[in-house]
Amino acid sequence: MEAISASSLDPDHPRRVVVAGGGYAGMTCAVTLAHRMLPSDGLEIVLVDPRPYQQALSELDLVAAGTPRPQFAELWHADAFHGLPIRVVYDRLESVDPREHRVALGPRGGSGDRVGYWRLVIATGAVPHIPPVPGLVENAITMWSVSDALLLQHRIERQLETAAKSPDAAERRRALSFTVVGAGATGVEIMGTIAKRLPRLMRRTGVDPGELSLTLIEGRPDILYDLPAPQRGRARRRLAALGVDVALGHDLESVEGGVAHLQGGGSVPSSVLVWCGGAHADPDATQWGLPVDRSGRLVAGSSLKGQGQEDIYVIGDVAAVRDPRDGRILPMLAQFAIREAEHAADSMLREARGLGPLQFEPHMHGEFVSVGPGWGIGWMFGVPVSGWPAIVMKRLTYVMYWVQVGSYRLAWERTRQMLRMRR
Ligand SMILES: Cc1cc2nc3c(=O)[nH]c(=O)nc-3n(C[C@H](O)[C@H](O)[C@H](O)COP(=O)(O)OP(=O)(O)OC[C@H]3O[C@@H](n4cnc5c(N)ncnc54)[C@H](O)[C@@H]3O)c2cc1C
Repeated sequence: MEAISASSLDPDHPRRVVVAGGGYAGMTCAVTLAHRMLPSDGLEIVLVDPRPYQQALSELDLVAAGTPRPQFAELWHADAFHGLPIRVVYDRLESVDPREHRVALGPRGGSGDRVGYWRLVIATGAVPHIPPVPGLVENAITMWSVSDALLLQHRIERQLETAAKSPDAAERRRALSFTVVGAGATGVEIMGTIAKRLPRLMRRTGVDPGELSLTLIEGRPDILYDLPAPQRGRARRRLAALGVDVALGHDLESVEGGVAHLQGGGSVPSSVLVWCGGAHADPDATQWGLPVDRSGRLVAGSSLKGQGQEDIYVIGDVAAVRDPRDGRILPMLAQFAIREAEHAADSMLREARGLGPLQFEPHMHGEFVSVGPGWGIGWMFGVPVSGWPAIVMKRLTYVMYWVQVGSYRLAWERTRQMLRMRR
């Protein structure tokens, strides 16, 4: 790997692949190309991302509440790309000119260096969706980065300290009220981690865990809507056993003074409120002149090229990819981002060898959600899985990813760190 500035690239390399975004999709695409290309393909791979590491978002449940090293969820490009012919530009994709086959790379709002491409892969991800609920932006923590996880840890510690110092039971209860809004996979995972870890931290600071109040709020009639009903029931029972109140069918009306007010009446004390209410595609991508769907995702064709584009692939959360079997748009999941990235890489290699691109066929072999660090729920090859086997499977997917984008050595080192963190 070589980190370079955009201005030092030959502006007119005839076979340059520019991959914009170094998350699950971008990293997988660049590494797959680097491993599978032949010298005769003549490709130059340039990955562009403002950050020198990937925020491994699906690993945030491990680090959200109280592990010593939240930075674990940062996967550094230099570690993963070691020894691979990938050039990395730590900048942003600023604009795209499909007619001229050029992109501008630079800091946000800057003029940017113009660089030619043979193929462009747009994989710039998504951002949290925050609806205009009064008080939400000011009071909620989103869960989208290691900084968010650190902020949550910090807020939890502060609340524990306040409770430990207060002689007043009502004040202690107020201080110890934690709410997560959104009971999709992310919300359930974060609440599970908080519910499992907090009582231990409280005992250490001499605070009675009985004073803890944990609430998970969801607007729909059930949690984990993507899972079958029996699995959802199990997850609900697990949350109840961890002391979590689940408020279903309630949308948030406003947040003020440490209280979450619900539509239709009712309120929940929330000294800390975590917002896990969904995501929307990278809003900057709508400025790049490619067709977008109603939700703001770049429309992908059947071979994952942007609609009407010959030389631009769109993959990962930023892209609206349709499942050809049922016509549904694929959800924003790392496993789809990874599959799409492999597909785009293989298709580009075919094109480099004078063949046509491939049609994309999505496959999902399993799905796992942790409910606390040691217990999970999900399915694999159509078979329901729950308890520790689901956690083993979930963590195995991490290990497989580290092998895929890094090496056995990197995967081994990270697995050891992960096992140490659990203790
Ligand atoms: C807390 C949490 C838990 C999750 N858990 C799971 C899970 O268990 N399983 C699962 O399958 N999915 C999970 N997901 C979803 C999964 O993380 C996403 O689907 C996945 O990150 C999508 O990958 P991506 O490469 O499209 O985007 P990202 O991984 O978000 O990467 C996008 C990259 O683009 C870069 N970028 C942005 N703008 C630009 C620009 N203009 N120029 C250059 N680079 C740019 C960003 O810096 C970033 O590195 C979870 C998500 C969250 C938030």
